[in-house]
Amino acid sequence: MNIRSFESQFFAAIAAFLLATSASAQVAPIALHVDASDASRQILHARLRIPAQPGPLTLLYPKWIPGEHGPTGPITDLVGLQMSAAGKTIEWRRDAEDMYAFHLEVPAGADAVEVTLDFLLPPNTGDFSAGGSATAQLLDLSWNHVLLYPKGSRADALQFAPNLRLPSGWKFGTALPVARESAGELEFGRVSLETLVDSPVIAGKYFRTIDLSPGTEPAHFLHIVADSAAALEIKPGAAADFSHLVAEADDLFGASHYRSYHFLLTLSEHVAHFGLEHHESSDDRSGEKYLTDEDEWKLGAILLPHEMVHSWNGKYRRPTGLATPDFQQPMKGELLWVYEGLTDYLGEVLAARSGIWTNATFRESLALTAAMLDHRAGRKWRPLADTTVAAQLLYSARTEGAARRRSVDFYPEGDLIWLEADVIIRQGTQGRHSLDDFCHKFYGGESGPPKVSPFTYEEVVAALKEIAPYDWREFFQKRVYAINPHAPLVCIEGSGWRLTYTNTVPDLLRARESARKLTDMSFSLGLSIKEDGTIQDVIPGSPADKAEIGPEMKLVAIDGRRWKADILRTAVKSATTNTAPIELLVENNDYFKTCKVDYHDGEKYPALERDPGRPDLLTDILKPRTPAPISSEKKE
Ligand SMILES: [Zn+2]
Repeated sequence: MNIRSFESQFFAAIAAFLLATSASAQVAPIALHVDASDASRQILHARLRIPAQPGPLTLLYPKWIPGEHGPTGPITDLVGLQMSAAGKTIEWRRDAEDMYAFHLEVPAGADAVEVTLDFLLPPNTGDFSAGGSATAQLLDLSWNHVLLYPKGSRADALQFAPNLRLPSGWKFGTALPVARESAGELEFGRVSLETLVDSPVIAGKYFRTIDLSPGTEPAHFLHIVADSAAALEIKPGAAADFSHLVAEADDLFGASHYRSYHFLLTLSEHVAHFGLEHHESSDDRSGEKYLTDEDEWKLGAILLPHEMVHSWNGKYRRPTGLATPDFQQPMKGELLWVYEGLTDYLGEVLAARSGIWTNATFRESLALTAAMLDHRAGRKWRPLADTTVAAQLLYSARTEGAARRRSVDFYPEGDLIWLEADVIIRQGTQGRHSLDDFCHKFYGGESGPPKVSPFTYEEVVAALKEIAPYDWREFFQKRVYAINPHAPLVCIEGSGWRLTYTNTVPDLLRARESARKLTDMSFSLGLSIKEDGTIQDVIPGSPADKAEIGPEMKLVAIDGRRWKADILRTAVKSATTNTAPIELLVENNDYFKTCKVDYHDGEKYPALERDPGRPDLLTDILKPRTPAPISSEKKE
């Protein structure tokens, strides 16, 4: 060995040592201990040990939450924030512009920062995961509520070692693999920040797990936590339908991108009701009677199929604007008409294929969706694409005035646009191909653990073109990016049906009216009314609009008699046999006025009727592709 060689070996060894030291600094996980033993008092306690070098450091609270498409991180409920290093308190300072960033100076000699914080679980208010998340008997834990992370790190590179203490006797469900469990203390394996935030935990006293695909890989579980034991009593038929859903989703996409899949279903009147998608689970929250009440089931049955489809469309494949490297960079929602619009369509199709919905319920839903969209006056000023770009505003917009404003219309209008795409493919290929082939091609690929494969508009167009030659760019330009005063009802006609109006209230609308405590006469008088008489919305150009009734006025009386839903319906029926206007007494900010509604065409509710002159493609689309499996229930 000569000196040069010794020198080079010496420096190589030094370099390797330095590399190993810096690498170990990067991979040392952030220890996160969450104490949820006070969850029933609506507070979580957390402690973090964040490896750090001496010098300036900025810690971030997650702001843009994946799947919520907005800056919804509940920063105002982060309290009790204290930092220290080597036993000494460190002063922190919030950034003057970014309310989610905290600056501090790590003292010399320290190798980590200790952070303690509390999170105030909100009562039953707020949107999505920032809404009600705990009751006396249960907790829905979103890890992003109880952590900070260093600025400059990618969420998929930063490692966490999470621990969770639950109230005594509570059981739990999550997609996170558990490394150790003892006396209410759970130690999870080391995971990236991205996986941690993507893996919520549900826990509670009343809890059960149902194996939806016994003996198969990957495994699928339905975990249910509720405010009562009675709420866990799922009908055997419903459990079998969920098993069928798993088989139908597998058939639709042809591959899966999870190690195992966990529906995390919370049933309570005291948590926010919504669904939030994850790669390997979904946070699904509904009322306590979701599984036991016929109406609640019919209304909410779409929740689980929709969220499961997101494992492919939204998590595995995600528009580039929504595939951000951390939780602070703004998300761009323009392609939500694919992310949410196609998911909405496929969720409903899978609900019908798996038996969760009947075909009749699918058609009722499609008719109500098409009619609602066709009466949106806001279509005259904003294209659908603007509702995707402005999604972060529209999710929290009031329901009052939605007809003129439009809402997150890319969900329901996605049903129409993607049905039309399905019809175009079937017609253009003489029935040899369908949208299922696009799903296979675009979302299938190779099965394996979660990964993210971002996509662009151009890639969607190109993949569709490979299934069926068509000017897809022109199609989406017309449907999504142009102003369309009317909804694209041509999709219904192409599928062999027609939108019509009858005087029978559809079952789905009746259930919706009873659940939302609403009377919906949008397609006759042109208004919808809350239980206390408050006008929720008025359709511009409708008889109610012409009679100068506006949203947020209060309906007091109909033809001199106190407001009640059945009095109003009777008045509309009676008006078909005379020429006198219906007199509505309304209150508008302490003033009263009588509005004369000149309407005589009776009740009108949307429905689909079969067009015998065209092939029934819709029924073909909804046909199951797999046999219904026998469900095997595991009680815990
Ligand atoms: Zn969704």
